[in-house]
Amino acid sequence: MLHSIHPEQHGPLGEAMTNAVQACVHCGFCLSVCPTYSELGQEMDSPRGRIVLMKLALEGSLAWDAVQPHIDRCLGCLACEPACPSGVPYRDLISPFRALAASKFQRSGADKLRHWLAGQTIPYPSRFRFAVRAAGVGRAMRPLVPRALQSMLDLAPASVPPAQKWPSVTPARGERRARVALLTGCAQQVLDPDINTATIEVLARNGVEVVIPSGQGCCGGLAWHTGDLTAGQGFARRNLAAFPADVDAIVTNAAGCGSAMREYHLVLHGTPEQARADAFSKRVVDVSVFLSRLGLREKPTGNGHPQRIAYHDACHLAQAQGVRREPRDLLRAIPGVQLLELPDPHICCGSAGSYNLDQPAIASALGEKKARAVLATGAEVLATGNIGCLTQLRAHFARLGSALPVRHTIQVLRDAYDPSLR
Ligand code: SF4
Ligand code: SF4
Repeated sequence: MLHSIHPEQHGPLGEAMTNAVQACVHCGFCLSVCPTYSELGQEMDSPRGRIVLMKLALEGSLAWDAVQPHIDRCLGCLACEPACPSGVPYRDLISPFRALAASKFQRSGADKLRHWLAGQTIPYPSRFRFAVRAAGVGRAMRPLVPRALQSMLDLAPASVPPAQKWPSVTPARGERRARVALLTGCAQQVLDPDINTATIEVLARNGVEVVIPSGQGCCGGLAWHTGDLTAGQGFARRNLAAFPADVDAIVTNAAGCGSAMREYHLVLHGTPEQARADAFSKRVVDVSVFLSRLGLREKPTGNGHPQRIAYHDACHLAQAQGVRREPRDLLRAIPGVQLLELPDPHICCGSAGSYNLDQPAIASALGEKKARAVLATGAEVLATGNIGCLTQLRAHFARLGSALPVRHTIQVLRDAYDPSLR
């Protein structure tokens, strides 16, 4: 019996998913770039295999539970998109499919508990800060902690820096060239608040007024990328209301947040806010792109700055937003810097939002490989553009006995302006 997909049965994104599935010609060019295919060597854990599985589930010819493990193992890194000669928009498929499948997959109680805990803590800075402290207690009582939660204990840092607050408006220094609104993020402002401080400093030095809208919240990426559409829509609506229209751009400094906000048109597809979400998504830009387009008015001195800098492409910057050149250009603007490229730059470091909580074995294998590749370059510092990658690689360097500093690109640039701010 022949089956076909009936997009109207699969919610507002049924058509987008159907189009993506039907665009695949099964050529297999995407297999070699897929980290999970490289790790596991199974067709069903490749982009092509997953597309077939999703197609069969959407048609109703394969049980959803048979598809689930392979969809869960997808990093959402989007390395498959640029490798695809047919232009399959995998991003139109994976997160919408996860949202659709959320009510169809039969998850274990342990999985549900871990997802619930992550969703209730990570997006909220004060709760997340408390959770990091609680993880310290949990580590001391490890045998009593449910197995499903132990990956959370392993990944939580031993401590976090003191909380920081930033002014609602930081004026541009010198003549004002632009005015932007900054997303301060959730996990990032707990794990490494200096990234926001550095972002504001570098923007202001270059003539940009920085506004921090008070009503903003989490970008919603964690929820959207793990299939919790309702929560994702809630965060998106909150940010639509919070961010002002009278700015030149909405600037992000976490690749995962930027790519999620640039997908608000998908998150809110089929809702009354769709048109606003579409316009909003187009105004979101990574800080590296904004600065690169604007041009550095004040040149960094690089005085006393590390010279050998390795750069790691965060998937949600390079693949999801197509941003590869701009951060490199900013780093090359530092006098005397030698920029070191990594082999297989499209391969994810295994962080991928909450992936390292859900799939710790694959995440850890990818993290260790990436960390070893960085160390082999002989770099004095690693720069990247996403808090997930920063946290993952810091943990892996520590495990390998290396104290190599891992910094956000904007921190590296700020440090090159003024070593005393390091
Ligand atoms: S490269 Fe594109 S068309 Fe070819 S199998 Fe992969 S997703 Fe399908
Ligand atoms: S998003 Fe990444 S892990 Fe998922 S299929 Fe594409 S390349 Fe593989």
